[in-house]
Amino acid sequence: MNDAPSDPTRDNRKPTATPAVPRATTPGGAGSDATRLGALSSPEPHGLYRLLVDSVRDYAIFALDPTGHVLSWNAGAQRFKGYTQDEILGQHFSIFYPPEDKWKPPMELDIATATGRFEEEGWRLRKDGTRFWANVVITALRDENGTLVGFAKVTRDLTERKIAEQQRLEDARRVAISEESNRAKAGFLAAMSHELRTPLNAIAGYTDLLLTGVGGAVTEQHRDYLERIRGSQQHLLSIINDILNFSRIEAGQLEYRVEPVSLREVINAVVPMVEPQALTKSVAIEWHDNVDAVALADHAKVEQILLNLLSNAVKFTAAGGRIDVGCASRGDRVILTVADTGIGIAAEDLGAIFQPFVQVGRSLTSPHEGTGLGLAISSDLATGMGGRLEVESTVGKGSAFTLTLPGATAASA
Ligand code: ADP
Repeated sequence: MNDAPSDPTRDNRKPTATPAVPRATTPGGAGSDATRLGALSSPEPHGLYRLLVDSVRDYAIFALDPTGHVLSWNAGAQRFKGYTQDEILGQHFSIFYPPEDKWKPPMELDIATATGRFEEEGWRLRKDGTRFWANVVITALRDENGTLVGFAKVTRDLTERKIAEQQRLEDARRVAISEESNRAKAGFLAAMSHELRTPLNAIAGYTDLLLTGVGGAVTEQHRDYLERIRGSQQHLLSIINDILNFSRIEAGQLEYRVEPVSLREVINAVVPMVEPQALTKSVAIEWHDNVDAVALADHAKVEQILLNLLSNAVKFTAAGGRIDVGCASRGDRVILTVADTGIGIAAEDLGAIFQPFVQVGRSLTSPHEGTGLGLAISSDLATGMGGRLEVESTVGKGSAFTLTLPGATAASA
């Protein structure tokens, strides 16, 4: 309990310097200072010090008698606590304490009496019942004979600081919980995906074995069934790979090999992968292979993003439609675009499609397959390379996805 120099009630040797205590005698020192200040300087109880204490609005400064009843009240006290002077004079100061702290007032006065001072922070009640967080200093006031004449109580309202502190703690707690649960979730998904892939590989292996005929003659019907089993196995495997991929990204386990990447090369490599599907659906894919832009990125991951965007474009564009693929430089960034004339995405769904497992209009009978992870993965990969993935779309007209990446200063293509 060290002395606080800023505490206006600290000077026990001159208790009457705090004229809020009516029983105090006029101090010579204070009187002579005041005399030099002219009109304000008249002796107690209307003197400078009284005026000063009365007018302070940032601190509640008031006096208690030796048993804790309020003897004086200032502007700050009225502002914090809501009582007027008439309402509060004569009341016991325990009225400011919430029910669970009613044991505190006698204890605080005992400590202040024994040691000269008591300080604490805690919740206090306003007249309207609301709480505020207060810093409270109680100082024992003694006359020149050392007799206790009362207490000076100075209270500061620190509610804003307390709320900001609580908010910071709450935020930190929330971040810790969410990081921990993300890690646990990613770990679980990674382990589960791994376990699922082992039996799935066995299904593929034995299906292929049966198809070769080593297990006995294979009829046309057998072959049809086995190929369906194989198709479903592949589909399930790709879903599991997506989940594994996504959980690795989420767990921050992915490494990026950043190098200059020719977007033209990426387009030339990926478009042929989806052309067969597009042809089957009578969807045309157009790109200009004389235009290039060089990104500073991870080659394989840019290919993965483009493959996802192109597969989606083919999936969501009806026969007779068109897909345009292109790249360009924009200052120190480069862009890769995939625009289709497909079904489009409603404005209210645009934000959600980058969330994991979101498929617009997906129902149990919906015609298209997928996990709803492709765009979540692509968007995370783009962010991981210092870029971003964005979309513009109009229902019935089509969608345009733009991947923006840092550009390589020296074009290597
Ligand atoms: P998936 O393709 O496995 O469903 P994605 O994350 O790649 O998952 O896509 C999420 C959803 O965004 C799709 O289910 C679809 O509703 C919508 N979407 C994506 N690309 C397009 C597109 N080119 N045109 C229309 N809708 C699209």
